[in-house]
Amino acid sequence: MTKKMGCALGALLVSLGLIAVVIISPRAEFTLGGALVNLGYRLQDRFSQFDFEHDETITPDQIWDELKRQNEMAAGVRGLFPRTTRHPVVAILACMDARIDTSELVGDTRRYYYVVRTAGSVLSPAEQEMLELAVLNGVEVILLTTHTDCAAEAAAADPKLREKFPALIGLMDEREQRIDEFKARPIIRDAIAEGKLIIKHARIDTSTDKLVIEKADE
Ligand SMILES: [Zn+2]
Repeated sequence: MTKKMGCALGALLVSLGLIAVVIISPRAEFTLGGALVNLGYRLQDRFSQFDFEHDETITPDQIWDELKRQNEMAAGVRGLFPRTTRHPVVAILACMDARIDTSELVGDTRRYYYVVRTAGSVLSPAEQEMLELAVLNGVEVILLTTHTDCAAEAAAADPKLREKFPALIGLMDEREQRIDEFKARPIIRDAIAEGKLIIKHARIDTSTDKLVIEKADE
């Protein structure tokens, strides 16, 4: 056997081994999927001109032009690789913090959850109606999250920022009360009573996206 043939045979065996692992283990398949998604992120990272950590001189107009250009490319990719469509049965309330990637919380490309995002995961009447609408559209699990190192929580604890953002801080102070109010809404209350809906609470570890389930509610 030549050296070239030996290398080709080795590569073939490694490939077959990887395929076998993926077939045998759904977990390995899930991990490989996540790795490929992240590989995609890495490949696209260098095209992001509007990351303020990279260039503070960039102007709003340049950022807007870049955003439009990237959307055109992204839509092109979507056209080439259509996504699986699924009807969501889960709705998640999460903070708007950009470090939390809600697409990765339970595996990217799954698309089986609605996401409502607000600073500090506050739940004003408008968000309550959004979640209620989601329940009418078939959602059976609502996950209310908060997260570690939350800027809105820090603002609520800072006297100067409390003065600067009174509306947001007011909702932060009433967070638990608003959740109780939401659970008492007739559509939500009845769905829970009929066993068609459960509401769960979790705190997201911002550095890992890991959900720490806080308490089992309805
Ligand atoms: Zn936050």
